[in-house]
Amino acid sequence: MTENIGIPFLEGHYSPTLDLWPIEAKEFNRIHTFYDNLKEGKYTTTKCKGCGYISYPPRVICPECYSDNLEWIELPTRGKVITFVEKSIAIPIGFGEPLIDAWIDLGKDSPVRHVFSRVINCESGGIKEGDEVQLVVFDVPGHPIEWRKEKWIAERVYFAFEPVS
Ligand SMILES: [Zn+2]
Repeated sequence: MTENIGIPFLEGHYSPTLDLWPIEAKEFNRIHTFYDNLKEGKYTTTKCKGCGYISYPPRVICPECYSDNLEWIELPTRGKVITFVEKSIAIPIGFGEPLIDAWIDLGKDSPVRHVFSRVINCESGGIKEGDEVQLVVFDVPGHPIEWRKEKWIAERVYFAFEPVS
């Protein structure tokens, strides 16, 4: 495991440059609950208990009223592709083609209507607008962490969406 020290990649599914929060460990990341929830298959974000504002990605402080009294709410784990970009050239190091990013509609009843995400487990030409996609959570090589003279590898997960078969 310690040989993984360096920049983590995972079979073209993950790059640290696309990670919103590169270190998940709770000692370093105040939204680590997001990852704990992902590990249980839940897709979540934060809602302000003061003014009701819903942030995505999750926050530690409400951008509307600056309260830090936030709660975690669940989002749907299925949605429909609104539009997408499929790249077959200029792919970042560590990824294979196709590299697909999509705007996804989580539905009119979702607390967050639209999210932007990678789409994996999908062949070139494998999705079109309107297709259904679902959340997929996968392990990411751990980050080496050193804090208060202790060293450990922080276990990590990340998410994308994949076509519903
Ligand atoms: Zn607020």
